Amino acid sequence: MPAKLKAYRAKRDFTRTAEPSGARSPAPAKSLRFVVQKHDATRLHYDFRLELDGVLKSWAVTKGPSLDPREKRLAVEVEDHPLAYGDFEGTIPEGAYGGGTVLLWDRGRWRPEGDPKQALRAGELKFILEGKKLRGGFVLVRMKKRPCEKRSNWLLIKHRDEYAGAGKDVLDEDVSVASGRSMAQIAAGEGRKPRPFITKAARA
Ligand code: MN
Repeated sequence: MPAKLKAYRAKRDFTRTAEPSGARSPAPAKSLRFVVQKHDATRLHYDFRLELDGVLKSWAVTKGPSLDPREKRLAVEVEDHPLAYGDFEGTIPEGAYGGGTVLLWDRGRWRPEGDPKQALRAGELKFILEGKKLRGGFVLVRMKKRPCEKRSNWLLIKHRDEYAGAGKDVLDEDVSVASGRSMAQIAAGEGRKPRPFITKAARA
């Protein structure tokens, strides 16, 4: 198990939550994957996750991603998540860490511009997303940390390209890309199970 998952595991009780423990790691893909999970927890947010080095680098985007290049969306860096988390859709019990409903809002492949590890260290990661809802160029830029701040704050910004648009809010497309379910259906435990994307190779 990747040592990077220590923080993830320490926060969760796997006898209570159906979230993956990360004990078994799915096979790495030829191209890197990303997921965005809409998470109706204490505060609604969108978890933005990029596969890198066998884990999902993760940011909580409070207002959700935007296709409007003028919108700079705050993305709070959170702990690395196991790859299998990218297939998780369902409910986390109330009172457990992150308690609430999780919907697989978008997923697909991503391509970094240059060396992604170096870019993350430098605080500016440019990349292309090939998702169902999010496509084209984006950048994550780390903001300067104030002395009191524990977490790193980043901004997620769309690049100007043919996929950019200010006309409609991409967040209005709010059903699961993995199951077609709405947040309410998932919360009620109705509808079909999500089709796996990251763990399917391991299952086959
Ligand atoms: Mn979350």
